[in-house]
Amino acid sequence: MRIGVGYDVHRLVRGRPLILGGVRIDSDWGLEGHSDADVLVHAISDALLGALALGDLGHHFPDSDSCYRGISSVTLLKRVMAMLHDQAYRLHNLDTVIIAQKPRLAGHIPAIRRNLADLLATDPRSISVKAKTAESLGALGRGEGIAVNAVCLITQVIH
Ligand SMILES: [Zn+2]
Repeated sequence: MRIGVGYDVHRLVRGRPLILGGVRIDSDWGLEGHSDADVLVHAISDALLGALALGDLGHHFPDSDSCYRGISSVTLLKRVMAMLHDQAYRLHNLDTVIIAQKPRLAGHIPAIRRNLADLLATDPRSISVKAKTAESLGALGRGEGIAVNAVCLITQVIH
């Protein structure tokens, strides 16, 4: 068994789509970034890469490389999952915390868990997604961005 931790933060701006866990959230505000800025998928990908001790998403798919501009973060997560399978590991479970002062996310969590479970080839019961505000403290509390913490456990596949 190996554990991994991932963290990501993106700035919230007007007029960008808000995509979390591959799910489009109806909002006037979205996250800024070269890709679709799916902060949840980025943190999850970093947790998986961390468990494999393979660096982070930016190392494998650099922002500076124009071929990753506007790419769906889900596509990158699928490549990370392929690395996991190549090394004969599978995801056991995943826990995440989204820190967002806005918008309210509680109603979207079941859809995000289902979508992530599909992407990660596991059951929604193995995928935990929690959302909380920053209690109006600091930049996140002013709604200037959204941050995510993710922790995963992977297990070696025994043949
Ligand atoms: Zn990111």
